[in-house]
Amino acid sequence: MHELSLIESMLSLVEEERQRQDFSRVLKIRLDVGALGHAEPDALLFCFDAAARGTIADGATLTIVMIPGEGNCPDCHRIVLLDHRFGDCPLCGGIQVRMTAGDELRLAELEVE
Ligand SMILES: [Zn+2]
Repeated sequence: MHELSLIESMLSLVEEERQRQDFSRVLKIRLDVGALGHAEPDALLFCFDAAARGTIADGATLTIVMIPGEGNCPDCHRIVLLDHRFGDCPLCGGIQVRMTAGDELRLAELEVE
């Protein structure tokens, strides 16, 4: 499952963070997930429960925030919302919109003690 490898790389980031900050427990994790990426929030949550078991993040609350797709249209020079990865510009119909957001998976917040 694709989401499992995403969660595993997130957990290794958390582990790296622990080596720098030396905390004993992770309380909350916030992940920003691009709406145009291929990660399902439900699947991420499910994988997290399984993959975090026995790690420093065991028992932490995972919050997933969806980041809407966004692109830069070279025809009308505006930032537009994108429904899908290769969407046309909703304002001028331009087909050269370059995606600028919506594909990320970012560890946005980490609350520890
Ligand atoms: Zn446009």
